[in-house]
Amino acid sequence: MKPAAFTYHRAHDVTDAVGLLTDLAAAGEDPKLIAGGQSLMPMMTFRLARPSALVDLGPLRRVPSMTAVTDGPDALTLGALVTHHTVETASLSPGFAVLSDAMRWVGHLPIRSRGTVAGSLVHGDATAEWCLLALLLDAVVVAEGPAGRREIPADELFHGFYATAVDPDEVVVEVRFTRPAPHAALSEFARRHGDFAIVDAALALDVDDGGTVTGGRVVLGGVAPAPVRVP
Ligand SMILES: Cc1cc2nc3c(=O)[nH]c(=O)nc-3n(C[C@H](O)[C@H](O)[C@H](O)COP(=O)(O)OP(=O)(O)OC[C@H]3O[C@@H](n4cnc5c(N)ncnc54)[C@H](O)[C@@H]3O)c2cc1C
Repeated sequence: MKPAAFTYHRAHDVTDAVGLLTDLAAAGEDPKLIAGGQSLMPMMTFRLARPSALVDLGPLRRVPSMTAVTDGPDALTLGALVTHHTVETASLSPGFAVLSDAMRWVGHLPIRSRGTVAGSLVHGDATAEWCLLALLLDAVVVAEGPAGRREIPADELFHGFYATAVDPDEVVVEVRFTRPAPHAALSEFARRHGDFAIVDAALALDVDDGGTVTGGRVVLGGVAPAPVRVP
């Protein structure tokens, strides 16, 4: 299996990436960003995706904000190119430790070492751990396009099967998780370890100082075209 022919372009910074996407589209091409390539390349080799041009975000790993992990008491900010493995091995504050714990469910180590937070969210698989966690922890996706930057809340991000609110000419630059959840977990059912989940669930409990559960939220994956937060 091999992908259909495409041209290859390296972006040097975010402005360059947005410019390449815009210029290639204006020239009649169908460009796509590539980050870790762990979803896009399989889609291309199976000919489920046939972009005529790839814009590689790899060189942007040299831009510090694109790989930064900024852990504050009320919010965790991850640069778009932060890998699953970086989060898996980070010592995050208790409110965001569920992110590290959940990463062991994402494929295998080589996939986690290349795949990125933004790539997973924009790919928008209904069972992807990042997609469930984004809804659970009220993530905000920051995307830059020709008109500047905008913020997309997680509950407006997922539009259905592999479809998100991120426009084809936008580059996600960071993802902010704004709802710490010290009592949270993610679990899933898959046929084999490392496979995509058939169904998965993420849960966060509100627990008061006396240890009483006062509320909670549940997000389910694999039960609808996009992950769903159970009312
Ligand atoms: C064998 C295997 C098993 C896997 N198992 C799992 C699993 O269990 N759970 C799971 O969640 N995932 C799994 N994955 C997918 C993996 O997590 C991918 O890393 C992830 O889905 C996509 O991240 P990426 O950086 O590789 O994105 P890419 O494949 O490079 O891109 C994916 C999409 O995102 C877009 N994109 C990428 N970066 C940006 C950006 N900054 N701004 C805008 N658009 C962007 C691309 O244009 C493309 O449409 C598996 C993959 C493989 C090959």
